[in-house]
Amino acid sequence: MPLLVLGSIALDTVKTPFEEHAEILGGAASYAAVSASFFTTPHLVGIVGDDFPKEHLAFFEKCRIDLTGLQVVPGKTFRWSGEYLGDMNNRETHSTELNVFEHFSPTLPEAYQKADVVLLGNIAPDLQLHVLDQLEAPRFVVADTMNLWINIARPRLMELLRRIDMLLLNDSEAREITEETNLIKAGRRLREMGPAYVAIKKGEHGCLLFGEKTFFSCPAFPLENIHDPTGAGDAFAGALAGYLARHFGSQEISGNAEERAIDFKHLSRAVVYGSVMASFSVEAFSIDRLRTVTPETIKERFELFQRLSIF
Ligand code: AMP
Repeated sequence: MPLLVLGSIALDTVKTPFEEHAEILGGAASYAAVSASFFTTPHLVGIVGDDFPKEHLAFFEKCRIDLTGLQVVPGKTFRWSGEYLGDMNNRETHSTELNVFEHFSPTLPEAYQKADVVLLGNIAPDLQLHVLDQLEAPRFVVADTMNLWINIARPRLMELLRRIDMLLLNDSEAREITEETNLIKAGRRLREMGPAYVAIKKGEHGCLLFGEKTFFSCPAFPLENIHDPTGAGDAFAGALAGYLARHFGSQEISGNAEERAIDFKHLSRAVVYGSVMASFSVEAFSIDRLRTVTPETIKERFELFQRLSIF
């Protein structure tokens, strides 16, 4: 079952207290699509300039990511640069250059319009809504966002929240949108804004998943060496959505609303897979660690995570 993945495709410059790497493959959709590719076939929607290295396109193809919806146009690829400070829990953005993303208004290829599971990765809410408008009958729409859009595009973000099934965001973003300091209250408030499910990510402290009457608290996989936290949230989102797409694909689910409803237990498992893939992602700069991951190492880490987390 294919998964539609929208988001930035970037050349990132990232500095940590220990290392700095310039113009490396980044972007929300790159991390998400590569991570999702371990579970399903991602159909990528995005844009890059003619300066985008061909080897990155070749890598996407090697991951069997469908690139029909990827535009390569004259101009410069989206660029982002940031720096991690201290214990790497804090990040400062140095620059964001939208470049070719500035006027990106894609028309989805026909096959993409039929997508059942959709990940509207972090990008302007206008663009997320533009893609959502072109989908015929998606069964489950997951969206990610960031503080920038909360600050500069709040009304459009609110519109988006009313039309999605699940929102992913980090703890500071949840507090900012809801003006609640307590995350359980924030999760409840966010659900009232539209999505049936909300996952609040807390970095090295794990993630809270909110459903109708319950919530699930998932720890983070404990890691000793974190090289680059960039894209952890996107790798999480990609694995979660990819796992859901695989689930839908493995069942004969008709279009009626009751059968469409997804099981909270299953969604909790998707969050655990999200956490596993995020833990791989931060072990190297860019998506480099995801290049060496295999279905076997994912399974091993999932099982180790279970043993470490159950009392
Ligand atoms: P994360 O660490 O999950 O917040 O994701 C970081 C990735 O998001 C980087 O690879 C950036 O290229 C990308 N990114 C940063 N700022 C933006 C933005 N304003 N819109 C879209 N993507 C962004």
